[in-house]
Formats: sequence, C-alpha cells, structure tokens
Amino acid sequence: MTYAPPRFDFTVPVRVNLYSDTQTKPSLAMKQAMMQAEVGDEQHGSDPTVLALCDRMAAMLGKEAAMFLPSGTMCNEIAILTQCQAGDEILAHHTAHIATSEGGAPWALAGVQVASLDGRNGIFSVDTLNAAIRPISRYSPAQRMVEVEQTANLGGGAIWPLETLHAVAEIAHAHGMVTHMDGARLLNAVVAAGVPAAEMAAGYDTVWLDFTKGLGAPLGAVLAGSTAFIDAAWRWKQRMGGSMRQGGICAAACLYALDHNIDRLADDHEHALILARGLAQIQGLSVELPETNLVFFDTEAAGLTAQELAARVRAAGVLISVMGKYRARACTHLDVTALQVMEAAAAIRDVVQD
Ligand SMILES: *Cc1c(COP(=O)(O)O)cnc(C)c1O
Repeated sequence: MTYAPPRFDFTVPVRVNLYSDTQTKPSLAMKQAMMQAEVGDEQHGSDPTVLALCDRMAAMLGKEAAMFLPSGTMCNEIAILTQCQAGDEILAHHTAHIATSEGGAPWALAGVQVASLDGRNGIFSVDTLNAAIRPISRYSPAQRMVEVEQTANLGGGAIWPLETLHAVAEIAHAHGMVTHMDGARLLNAVVAAGVPAAEMAAGYDTVWLDFTKGLGAPLGAVLAGSTAFIDAAWRWKQRMGGSMRQGGICAAACLYALDHNIDRLADDHEHALILARGLAQIQGLSVELPETNLVFFDTEAAGLTAQELAARVRAAGVLISVMGKYRARACTHLDVTALQVMEAAAAIRDVVQD
C-alpha cells in the first residue's frame, strides 16, 4: 500500500478553509502579545509567562497544578504514561483520538491497550461502561483509566452531558480507575452548554485544553491535575523532549487567546449551523446537526466518495476534510466568516449537482 505524504498544493488558491480549526493563524494582536512576552527558561521553572498560563489554567480547570506542552497529543500521552503501567487497559470510545489518531502511542509508548466502547456521537453510556468493566482477576489486563473526549471530535463535535460525565467518573473511581478528559475542544463545549470548565472537568483526575484549535494560538496545550500528578508528569515531559526554553513566547499567545478568543467560539457554532443548513438543502448529502463547530456529512447518496468531493471542492478553493469513505467534515473557526461559510456551501452544491 502506498501512502502519499501530505504536501500542500499552493498553486490552487484557498478561498474558504474548513479543513480544521487547527488551521487558524495567529492574528497581528496575538503576535504582538508574543513579541512583548516576558520570558525565562521553561524547563528551569523560571519563565514567568508560562507560569502565569499554568496558574490560570489550573484555576480555570479546577485543578491544583498545570503543565505547558507543545501539543494535545503530548498531553494525552503524558497523562497515560504517568498514570498507567505497561499491560494496563484504558476504556474509551472507539473513535477516541488516543486510539485513532496518535500513531498507536498508548500501545507503542506506554504498552497500554485501549478497549473500545460503543455509543452514539462518540459518547458511551453508563450502562456501556458498566458492561465493559471486568471483575479483577490475575488473567485480565488491569483496567486503569477511563477516558472521555469533550467535545467528541469524530462524534461530530458532540457535547457530553454533564450528568453523564459525572456518572462515568464516579463509576471509574468506584472501580479504582483514574479518569482522563481529552479537552482538545473543551471550551467549545463550555461556551455551547454554558457550563464552566471546572464543573465539566470535576471528577476527572487529569484534563487538558488545546490552544491550537478554535482558540487560534500557533502551538501549545495545557495539561492539569493534582500537584503530585504534575510533578510525576514532568519526568515524562523531560523524557519525551517536551521541555521548553523561552516557551513564554508561545504561552503569551495562549494567554491572549484566553482573553480574546473564548466568547467568540459562539460565532463558530452559529456558522456551523448556517453551513449545516446550507448543506442539508443539497440533494444527496446527509448532514449531522452540529452541536459545536464541526459539521459532518455523508456523501454516499450524491454518488461521490468524501475524497472525490473534497478534491473537487478543493479545485473551487474550498478545503474540507475526509473522515471516512463517505464521511466528510467541515470545521468552522476564527478565520472563517458567515459569508465564507455560505460561499463554501454554494461551492459544494455546485460540485454535487454537477
Ligand atoms: C486535535 C486533537 C487532539 C490532539 O491535539 P494536537 O494538539 O493536535 O496534538 C487530541 N484529541 C482531540 C479530540 C483532538 O481533536
């Protein structure tokens, strides 16, 4: 099987980029904040901007301490490496990023397997969790962690209801497991549901937030938990080469994002609804109603694979992503306007009707 490494074709101009909210570029004001950042040596614990970001995130997520990392993937893996041992098992939805999109890191780096749970929209029920928990025995792998994704990416950006989050955490703890929340898009859930982040993450031993999705920072994610957890996690950060030097340059972008880019996530959700309504009017497309900023739709009845549709709308200057043979995704974010979203829907309609 051949695999073509991604290499972008810059000769075809991009008019509307709905590929991912990771494609946002730092604004001029954000770059100015980065330029003015007071910096030190992050690994040495003497970068004041990183320390300020970590303090603020620990408070926001309702945890004792936090750690700045280059990426969300590193947050997930360090949380796993710190809290699980080789041979352990993690319970997560079968679409979870840790299982589908991290290069097999739980298995490869931590020696841990991820058991896949079913459930609608990336969310498993309390019953499903209970059914997956085995009696402790010397034959079975130790079930060590329950992981949830808020919002559930491949679940269509769906929001875990607060009661389910808390019930899942309670069951996990009652069985001696730790709880981990992949909060790559936690703030999308917070803004859409009107529930504070700390309340959503209550019951989760570890939680992290990505600054490179809807928040618009160039890189960075913050992992939070107890002081003892963060202390232990620091060794893994060091081992994996994740310690940084003048990281305050990037932490300043994250602080800027916390000040300016949270409330406006509501705009992205509104744009996603506009887009979904536009796509729903196109014969042959079946559209999932978005709860946040991710719009998933099925292309099969249009007689096109998602790949074919993506390639054709790409020629028209619209970027979308392919999430399955007939499953496409369009993602709204701070570099996309309502007008652009309508333009994209029109371009997709032209391709489908052609
Ligand atoms: C993007 C994403 C990640 C990984 O974050 P990176 O910063 O890209 O490493 C993890 N989980 C979910 C749900 C994501 O959407």
